[in-house]
Order: sequence, then C-alpha cells, then structure tokens
Amino acid sequence: MVTFDKMGLSPELLKGVTEAGFEKPTPVQEKAVPFLIKNRRDLIGLAQTGTGKTAAFGLPIIDDVDPSNKTPQSLVLCPTRELCLQITTEFKKFAKYKTGVSIVGVYGGAPIDAQLRALSKGAHIVVATPGRMLDIIRRKRIVLTNINRVVLDEADEMLNMGFKEDLNAILSETPAEKDTLLFSATMPKGVATIAMDYMEDPYEVTVGKKNQASENITHVYYAVQARDKYLALKRILDSEPNLYGIIFCRTRQDTKDTAESLMKDGYNVEPLHGDLSHAQRESVMKKFRVRSLQVLVATDVAARGLDVEDVTHTVNYSMPEELEIYTHRSGRTGRAGKKGTSIAIISLREEFKIKRIEKMIGQKFERLQIPPASAVFENQLTNIVKRIEDVKIDDEKVDPLVNSLFEKLGDMSEKDIVKRLLAMEFQQLFSYYEKAPDLNDPGRSSGSGREGRGGGGRSGSGSGRERFSRFSGGNRGGNRGGS
Ligand code: AMP
Repeated sequence: MVTFDKMGLSPELLKGVTEAGFEKPTPVQEKAVPFLIKNRRDLIGLAQTGTGKTAAFGLPIIDDVDPSNKTPQSLVLCPTRELCLQITTEFKKFAKYKTGVSIVGVYGGAPIDAQLRALSKGAHIVVATPGRMLDIIRRKRIVLTNINRVVLDEADEMLNMGFKEDLNAILSETPAEKDTLLFSATMPKGVATIAMDYMEDPYEVTVGKKNQASENITHVYYAVQARDKYLALKRILDSEPNLYGIIFCRTRQDTKDTAESLMKDGYNVEPLHGDLSHAQRESVMKKFRVRSLQVLVATDVAARGLDVEDVTHTVNYSMPEELEIYTHRSGRTGRAGKKGTSIAIISLREEFKIKRIEKMIGQKFERLQIPPASAVFENQLTNIVKRIEDVKIDDEKVDPLVNSLFEKLGDMSEKDIVKRLLAMEFQQLFSYYEKAPDLNDPGRSSGSGREGRGGGGRSGSGSGRERFSRFSGGNRGGNRGGS
C-alpha cells in the first residue's frame, strides 16, 4: 500500500498532512497524488465528495508552487461558496509549513474588495466560484499567464448550476499549455463535452464504478400508501432518535411545507431552500453544522456544497426526477470513512424508481418495514440508556438534589421512581402511538387511527413530538424542545 510519505511529497507538506490528521491515503489519493507529482498531464477523477478528492488534487498543486513567483500558478474552480471555503481551509492546513505559499479563496455572496486586496498581495493558488472568478477577470485584477494547472472540482455540479458559459469564458483566458484536472461524481454528457473540448489524453482515476455510490452507504426504502408518507417520515425520525440528517424534497414549496409540519410537530428541523436570504441560509447551515439543529429539510440546489461530516442519514422524502441527483443526495452521508444510510420513502407505485437507481449505483436497496410503536419505544429507551451511561455528573450540584428528592419521596422505592420518570418521559409518546396504524398494511382503510390527528395530512398539532424533552433529546447540543 502507498503511504503519504512514499508519494514524493515534500517534508513540509507531509507535516501539514499529518497534522491535519490524515494517516493513510484514501483510494483516490493513492491513485492521483503520486501520478500528479510525477506527471504533467490532464486528469479526470471520477470521485464523489467524501472520497478525499480535495487532497488528491490539492497536495500535488501545493507542492508545485514556486513561492518566488508571486502570480497565481493554479486555479481551482468549484460550484459553491461553501465548497470554496472548505477547499481553501483544507489547503491552508496542508500548506501550514510551506513557507511563502499563499492560497486565496474568492467566491460570490461576499464583498469583492477584500478578495481583490488578498489577490493583489500575491496568491499562488486561487480557489474560486466561476461567477466571481469571471468578475475578477473582467476587472483585470488577476494575472493568469502563469497558471499551469486548472482544477474543475465537482464539474457536474457546476454544470447543473448553470456555470457552463462562465467556465468556457474562464478557461479561454488561461494559458493553452496548462493541465486540466477535472473531478466529478458523475459523468453526464455535459462533463464529457468539457473533457473533450478542453483536455488532451486525460489520465483517468475512478474510485469505485462510474456512478457508483459510496460503499459506506446503506440504501434502504420504505414503501407506503402515498398519503401515509408524512406519517412514515415521522415514524422513522421517532425510531432513530440520534439521526443527524438531511431530508430532501423536490420543490421549494414541498420543502417549506414539510419543514413547517415537522416543526409544528415538535421536531428539531429547519428548512433550507432558495427563498431564504443569504444570511438566513448561513444561519441555518451553521446551526446544522454545530448540531444545534438535528435535521435539515432541503431542496437539492440549496443543499449543494453543504459540507458536513457525520451526517448519519439522508432521506429522499420525494424521489428525485433525475437519477443522478440520488447519488448527490446520498453522497451527503457515509463520508470520510463513516457509515451512512440513505433512505427513500416511496409510494407503493414508485418501486420501479428504486429498481432504476439500483441499476445505476450497482447496489441493492433493502426494503424495510415501517417500525411499529414497540420498536420506536425500544429505540428511544436504548437512547436514554446510552445517555444515562454517558452523562457527566457534577456530584456537588447533583447530590443535594438527589438527597432532597429522596426526602420528598420518602416512601417510594428507587425502582418506582425510575418507573415514574420513564412514564413521564414516554407519556406523550405513548399517547401519540396509542392509535398508531400499521403503515405497512397496504389495504388499510382511510380514516382509521390517524396517529393522533385526523386525515394524516401534513400539518397538525398535539401529535407526539413535543414529548422530546429531557431524556430523548439526544446529544445534539441541547437545543431540542425542552432539553
Ligand atoms: P473530500 O472528499 O475531499 O471532501 O474529503 C472528505 C473529508 O475526508 C474531508 O473532511 C477530509 O478532511 C477527510 N479526508 C480526506 N482524506 C483523508 C485521509 N486520507 N485521512 C483522513 N481524512 C481524510
């Protein structure tokens, strides 16, 4: 196996890589880094986000910088501000011990002046979103004559977001003899066209099969009657108290409605869609990143570039129209070597869509039954047990309260006290699930036992979730209802 110290990286860069916590290279790094260090050639990397592709192209281009030349030598183009910031931060970590190497990120949605100043101080590697880059080129505030490598990161996303014209304009301004490194999760026609137009005999690095989803992701689906999808969603959330995830909807309206219903029902969710202002969007993403928000309900476009590790689940609440979007959605989980689950909640008529995706990703879905109330209770209890085991106790503060509690409940046994605490904790859950229908029953008649509110529609109040108090609040930073 190739290790980082056998790849031909400089000792200074190696130090930064080690300090970033990278011990062994991921497959795309193993393939691309030694190649790019030794060769001057175009490269196509078919790799998803989460595979370690940033370092795969980043390490060679950082080590290649000539600090004595103050003009930009590599240009990295990526679709979103978030990804731009992430790449810049990661590059800076790697380059920490490389004296005199300057890396500057420029992206839309932020004042251009500070970015122009940073560029004018001298940038060796520029990481940019296409719109902002073009703006800067048109203002003649960047010298591109010494660019020797251009990276197109998440090329498929850039095309999806309508950056094709901008990319053409930018690439035509860069020197003809540069190398182009193109990274993409998928290879739709548009990306293949860019490769044909701008690249010469590219070296191909593929991680997994083309279009294959990450091996760390388990794909499951639940098939229910169309009108039961919202109830199924809640049941799934209830049975996974530690879920930290993203629920994908197809349209903004769906996103808003679903988030609103879940919020009304007491879940710790917020919507992320294109109607939010930049500040609102930033605020929601920040809350999600620091985990004071447990679940995002998002449109595909709004969730692009959102870079959060540890996402445990992605939920396809409505199935995407284009198959490839499924890969992007599920790629938000199972990152950096962690396990993730991609869930699809479909109506009984949509099973053919699952078959199509299975073909595309080369992986099977497992069909799961909607968990019954007993499974919800059991999982909630397991979560409580774990929290009891993990809680840090400040004896000084807790002991007097415990003593006072026993004094006040003098006649009650310890077991009885625990029982009552649990009954309190589960009270709302019990009442919510008292009439819970079997959502797996394809023939169940309408109007029967609607989980606490007539009609099974989206909105409603008084259903189970306000119960998410003390115990079941998970460990999400303490911002859930009542925790
Ligand atoms: P990327 O696909 O470049 O977005 O990387 C996904 C995440 O994996 C990032 O947070 C990286 O910091 C992390 N990562 C990438 N390569 C490695 C590695 N060799 N060892 C540990 N973590 C890594």
